[in-house]
Amino acid sequence: MNIYNKFSLIILGGLLITIATSYYLAINYGDIKKYQNINTPKTQLLDTSEKDSPELKIEYTYKKKYEMQEGETFSQILRKTKLNDNEIQEIIKLTKEKVDLNKLSIGTKIETISSIENDALFIQNIIIYPNKESEIFLFRNNNKFEIKSNQLKLYPELVSQEVEIQNSIFESLTNVDTPENIIMEFVQLFSFDIDFQREIRQGNKIKIFYKKFNDEKQNFIKTGSIYFAEIQLHNHSYELYRFENKNEKLLGYFDSKGKSATKALMKTPINGARLSSGYGMRKHPILGYNKKHQGVDFAAPKGTSIMAAGTGHIEFVGDNGGAGKYIRIKHMNGYKTAYAHLSKYASGINKNIKVKQGQTIGYVGSTGLSTGAHLHYEVWFNGKRINPMTMKLPSGKKLENNDLEAFLKLKEEIDIEMNEAS
Ligand SMILES: [Zn+2]
Repeated sequence: MNIYNKFSLIILGGLLITIATSYYLAINYGDIKKYQNINTPKTQLLDTSEKDSPELKIEYTYKKKYEMQEGETFSQILRKTKLNDNEIQEIIKLTKEKVDLNKLSIGTKIETISSIENDALFIQNIIIYPNKESEIFLFRNNNKFEIKSNQLKLYPELVSQEVEIQNSIFESLTNVDTPENIIMEFVQLFSFDIDFQREIRQGNKIKIFYKKFNDEKQNFIKTGSIYFAEIQLHNHSYELYRFENKNEKLLGYFDSKGKSATKALMKTPINGARLSSGYGMRKHPILGYNKKHQGVDFAAPKGTSIMAAGTGHIEFVGDNGGAGKYIRIKHMNGYKTAYAHLSKYASGINKNIKVKQGQTIGYVGSTGLSTGAHLHYEVWFNGKRINPMTMKLPSGKKLENNDLEAFLKLKEEIDIEMNEAS
């Protein structure tokens, strides 16, 4: 059974997230009431019960939701509202003190709550949700805006789950309410050792131990790390323990003997290059506007060799618009890597040929929309680009000496905690 075809389950996952978010919003509406002392509408238009109150001229309140689109800025969203230019400038100035506006990601939710006075819409509140744990709240006070930010208190919970695979890993873990990004991470951890389409059978077992964070009402807010992951196949089992330092920074995932799984994809498919632009929102160097940078750039002299980040097949080689001379490799289990702005291709690099990890596939250049010699490198997982620098894939390392000792100690602690949690 192909786990990547479970679109309905992904939708189910999305639905669960939506439900969780609604609970979260419901809690926060309590706060809005406190600040403004008006009934916040649950429907679009609502007659407030306090309309007879002499000090409140507000007759109706009206809520509108915005979601930040790709390439859109905070001020562009504000311009869609009924705020005037001065108010927009004031709000931007205040908001900048609380959050880096250039770092607001696509999908950031922004709400406005307006009153209707003399048939005109009058914005009273603006709420920005830069992430699930915090909200920034702007409210009108004597015709000036004020700002307040709230941090939600989170409670960690350790979860240990053991399931038998029925149709797919995704479905089996969704059935026991494992959060979607934990499932994705779990799958990624094994994706270069196990071919999910061919090797997984019904009845194979999965074990997983991870952390999640809830709000005070036990509503799930966000996931933490996976500490242990295991897949038991018919005649072989793969287990991985998280190895982290004292600050919970990930050092890698290793089996019980301190050996990492097969090295999956290189984070840097080029030698001696400097990372010149990371993944995420930035001002595009040529186009000029804010745009999500969906890969990473490595500055390197023209002609520097570029390696295949992993074993796979060449899916595309040729000119590709702004990407210039471009190569894309298809790896196992839904992974692809792409390389742009090349000066030339290595000899023999043609569509459909097999390449090995570390093999030279082309050379650094500046073809297409590029300001100088560099490699633009992308990693794709299930049709979506992911950040190559933070992807959690096996490193291929084997731990030794002090590292091994520290790992084995941590592994023991994980085993004990996992037993207590199950
Ligand atoms: Zn780039």
